[in-house]
Amino acid sequence: MADNKLYDVLGVSRNASDGEIKKSYRRLAKEFHPDKNPEAGDKFKEISYAYEVLSDPKKRQVYDKYGLKGMQQGAQDGFAGDSLFSHLFGGGLFGGFGGFGGPHRRRHKGEDTVHPLKVSLEDLYNGKTSKLQLSKNVICGACKGKGGRSENFEQCPGCKGRGFKVVYHQIAPGMAQQIQSECTDCLGDGILIKEKDRCTTCRGKKVCNETKILEVHIDKGMKDGQKIFFRGEGDQQPDIEPGDVIIILQEKRHEVYQRSGDDLLLTRTISLTEALCGFNFILKQLDGRDLLVKHPPGEVVKPGDLKAVMGEGMPLYKNPFEKGNLYITFEITFPENNFADEEALRGLEGMLPPRPAFVLPEGDNVEEVELHQFDAASDKGAHGSREAYASDDEDHMHGPGIQCAHQ
Ligand SMILES: [Zn+2]
Ligand SMILES: [Zn+2]
Repeated sequence: MADNKLYDVLGVSRNASDGEIKKSYRRLAKEFHPDKNPEAGDKFKEISYAYEVLSDPKKRQVYDKYGLKGMQQGAQDGFAGDSLFSHLFGGGLFGGFGGFGGPHRRRHKGEDTVHPLKVSLEDLYNGKTSKLQLSKNVICGACKGKGGRSENFEQCPGCKGRGFKVVYHQIAPGMAQQIQSECTDCLGDGILIKEKDRCTTCRGKKVCNETKILEVHIDKGMKDGQKIFFRGEGDQQPDIEPGDVIIILQEKRHEVYQRSGDDLLLTRTISLTEALCGFNFILKQLDGRDLLVKHPPGEVVKPGDLKAVMGEGMPLYKNPFEKGNLYITFEITFPENNFADEEALRGLEGMLPPRPAFVLPEGDNVEEVELHQFDAASDKGAHGSREAYASDDEDHMHGPGIQCAHQ
């Protein structure tokens, strides 16, 4: 499974928009703020950290690709994302790993290579074979991985014999972080065969870069974050068992359907006429079939009603003849103002259930007030009217200034 922790902390899906993330963060930050909720412990910190990562497109991308675990791996390999990882693990970046022992260090198994692969919901429904091109190190065929003709070694000039290189990486103005990564010239050995004896094909590195095509079989019902392993297809190095290539599926957002486990969800907007008098519509299933959805007249659909089409969800992984369900939430569009004249409305009222009786109370205690159109639901662009009414409790909860900081 993909690392979803930061999304879980904010209670949003992997596909959540920036707006949804911000909204959820504001709600949770309010709820778990230490001033308000001293019992919550580190919850507020987690929320803040999750928001810090997911609100930054670059950080979010790194996290989506590699997760927290992947970043740990990444920090070791020295690719971008390390600053994020060190942040999370309190800066003791290399303390926990050990093994940066300089020359002649040997591992038993090479690093795994992780590749994200974006797939559409259609592909996950129907299954598909994707070709993925990747470049990897293979043992040099010319020298059979020996690196040259002699056993005469000299210190690797790239890393001065240490086997690793140190890179300074600015994480903020005035703050630099030190990253150690394996020397790519000597692959961590710290030594190279003397220049005159070096293999000309691999220039003494013992390995050559090669492009390889992997066929990735996406089975019906596979899920976002699912890993597909290619054992031993990672970079080759002499005397080391190569690591694996790991493909991590990333489900692309679909225009119509949302996925929830093995079920498909969608929201369908119908007119008031359809809600009262029945409807038919065609739904394109992910395998291209047209589903005719019928609702008989007389059965009223209310706003927010949830209906299920059994067995039209996603195929189950490894059991694709079984399928989840399709759930449709209905939204109702009401007619525009003045859609009918008064006479027609009287006719309509005659057909609808009677309205509740109204009795005007006696005496002079009755004051007639006016109703204004007010849009409290939209957060964006409602500032003018919101200030004018100054009644929304959200602003009071945040206190002054917070709101501006989010814009
Ligand atoms: Zn060679
Ligand atoms: Zn080196």
